Order: sequence, then structure tokens, then C-alpha cells
Amino acid sequence: MGLGRNILLWASRNEWLKNWVPKKKFVQKAVKRFMPGETEEDVITATKELLRHNISTTLTHLGENMISLKEAEDNTNHYLNLLDKILNEKLDIEISLKLTQIGFDLSFDKTLEFFTKIALKAKEFNNNVFIDIEDTSYVDKTIGFYKKIKESYDNIGLCLQAYLYRTMDDLKSLVNIKPWIRLVKGAYKEHSSVAFPKLSKVNENYMLLSRFLLEQIKERGIRVAFGTHDLTIQEQVKKESEKIGLSKDKLEFQMLYGIKTDEQYRLASEGYKIRTLISYGEHWYPWYMRRLAERPANVGFVLKNIFNKSYN
Ligand SMILES: Cc1cc2nc3c(=O)[nH]c(=O)nc-3n(C[C@H](O)[C@H](O)[C@H](O)COP(=O)(O)OP(=O)(O)OC[C@H]3O[C@@H](n4cnc5c(N)ncnc54)[C@H](O)[C@@H]3O)c2cc1C
Repeated sequence: MGLGRNILLWASRNEWLKNWVPKKKFVQKAVKRFMPGETEEDVITATKELLRHNISTTLTHLGENMISLKEAEDNTNHYLNLLDKILNEKLDIEISLKLTQIGFDLSFDKTLEFFTKIALKAKEFNNNVFIDIEDTSYVDKTIGFYKKIKESYDNIGLCLQAYLYRTMDDLKSLVNIKPWIRLVKGAYKEHSSVAFPKLSKVNENYMLLSRFLLEQIKERGIRVAFGTHDLTIQEQVKKESEKIGLSKDKLEFQMLYGIKTDEQYRLASEGYKIRTLISYGEHWYPWYMRRLAERPANVGFVLKNIFNKSYN
């Protein structure tokens, strides 16, 4: 793992930087590339634009590791209101959230209570909810939570990370409950005892898991979203799915807002399902640092904004 990536991941957890960086105008300007705005209205406007290209969206309200149950409840209410707004707009928008946003660090039962409210409302509104996956210390607990919620709700998906050695076993333990899976490479700094340190190995594992998941789409009709901007992997997934006779509309890709936008348009025009995940909200700092860490070259965008600021 590169030094630049390590520094950015360290910066994502640093309390002092967390307070200082978001106040800087040049950073706010650079963030616009990955986030259309801080409010629901901003992301609904961005969704309308993407829908013109046959791209649906998933919305996630930023904020992690809530410190009180009151904040967890406020966040729950935020998602409940968001579901109302989505229904009013009649747009194809799903939601995705981190369990720590709704109290996972404090109480499993309370989180289940809050999540159930969201799942129930989503179900009533014919909508779906995905659970983001956080660092490895949460994986067991999150999978346990997912199995529990799936007993009552079928409109729920779970994100899993290809960089973890354990993910194939996790998938095998889940297939009987017909999970919905979003497969990603993984965004956190993990120790080599739990995760592949080399990107080439992560990619290999991503494809191994993808082949398994493609078979599951065919055999059990489960929903799988391939969450990656890696065009080589996307091509391989397309080829593997053709090999086993899956039609294009059975294949779903998910990508992040502002990353490889032209490729997102292209996938949609080729007939694949594509959904863009848009993050929004005031608490964007740790999330933004992880985006920079995924591609330290992105720091160039921030620097360019400092430069522009000095000369505008
Ligand atoms: C829909 C979606 C949901 C996600 N949910 C989670 C989650 O719940 N938990 C979690 O741990 N991770 C999540 N991630 C992040 C994921 O784990 C990766 O960190 C991220 O997607 C980068 O990996 P990649 O597959 O795009 O491959 P990479 O090998 O990292 O990138 C492939 C290429 O894509 C481009 N690219 C990738 N990232 C960026 C970027 N930030 N800026 C500009 N270009 C970029 C670059 O050209 C790069 O060469 C999610 C990602 C997506 C797309």
C-alpha cells in the first residue's frame, strides 16, 4: 500500500483535521467533483440528470460512528424523510447506509429497531435499502445483522469487500437466504492478516467472487451489483456473464458519482443496469479522504483548486 494512501487514510481519522479541513473554501470547491451538494434537493437534481441517461441512483447521507442514540435516531428520521421525498418525486432512487450512522457502536438492538423502521417504510414504498460495509472490525456483526433483518425483509442488500480473505466464506454462508450483494474492492486500511495487501490479488479475488456470484444470479435469481470503476474487471464480468448465458439486463454495475462518468453513460447505453451512488451531507470529510486515498492522483484536483483560488 502506497505511502500517499496511508497518509490519506490516517488523515481521514484525524480529529483535528476533521474540524479544520472542511472549513477551507478550496476543499469545499474540490469536493463538488464527487458530491453534487449537501442537501437532498441537490442530490435529487443530480439524479434527474442521470436518469436522462438511464442511470438510476442510490443516495447515502454522510456521517459515521454516531456518538449518541439521539443522533442515531435523527439519522433514522433523516432516511425516513428521504424516503418520503423519493416517493413524492417518483424517481428510481434507492438508499444505502452505514449501520454506525444509526447506532451500531452503541446497541445492536436499537440499531435493529431503527433499521426496521427504514426497511418497513422502504418496503411500503416499494423501495430498497443497502447496508454499506465498514472496516473489518464490523464485518461479523454486520453480516449477523443482515441475516437477522433478512428474516423479515427481502428488500435489503449488503455490501461485501473483495480485499478480505474471508469474503468467499461469507458469501457461501449467505446464499441460502437469497442475499442481495454489492461487491466492492474495499476502502479501508486493513492489516495483511485479514486483507490482500496487493491490488493484483484483490482483483483476482474480485473475479473469483464475481464468477461465484454470476452463477448465483443464474441459479437462484439473486441480485448482485458489481461496485467498481475498474474497466478491466467490468469487461471480465461482462464476458463471464455472456459465457453462462446471462442477458445484459441481469447485470448491474454501480459506480460512484463523479468517477468515470462517461463510462457510466456508456454502460447504460450498452443496455446494462447502472446505478450511481451519490453521497451527500455536511459530514463529508472522512468519506472524502477515503475517495482521495483510492486514487492519490485526485489530490491534484485539490491542489488545482488552491492554485485557482490564488489566481482568481
Ligand atoms: C457503488 C459503490 C459502493 C461502495 N460501497 C462501499 C462500502 O460499503 N464499503 C467499502 O469499503 N467500500 C465501498 N466502496 C468503495 C470501494 O471499496 C473502492 O474503494 C472503490 O470503489 C475503488 O475501487 P475500484 O473498484 O473502483 O478499483 P480501483 O482499482 O481502486 O480503481 C480502478 C480505476 O477506477 C478509477 N478510480 C477508482 N477510484 C477513484 C477515485 N476515487 N477517483 C477517481 N478515479 C477513481 C481509477 O482510474 C482507477 O484506476 C464502494 C464503491 C462503489 C462503486
